[in-house]
Amino acid sequence: MSEHENHASHAGASDGADNETCPKCRSRKVIPRVRIIDRNANSGVEELSVEVHEYPYAMFFRGTHRGYLSASVCGECGFTELYLEDPAAFHAAYESALARQRDDQIKRG
Ligand SMILES: [Zn+2]
Repeated sequence: MSEHENHASHAGASDGADNETCPKCRSRKVIPRVRIIDRNANSGVEELSVEVHEYPYAMFFRGTHRGYLSASVCGECGFTELYLEDPAAFHAAYESALARQRDDQIKRG
């Protein structure tokens, strides 16, 4: 009921379903929260992520919000799903970007 649940060790989305079932082959050999390694432009290694910008049209300081992805991997058939960590915060940033775009249009109009 509260928004403080995210502060518990992990932003646990599942309602206590510890053993996930693969949606493809129905195996229970699902490995949750696997980190996905990506390489950035400086050939550094980081986790795969997605971005929204609060000010998408700004040249600088676009208010970037980054969300990290983790994978749920089936150890039977290999089916892999991606999950965004802290989706609520990411969505809030997106809503904020939408609101700013609306404001900009009103000012221009
Ligand atoms: Zn499977």
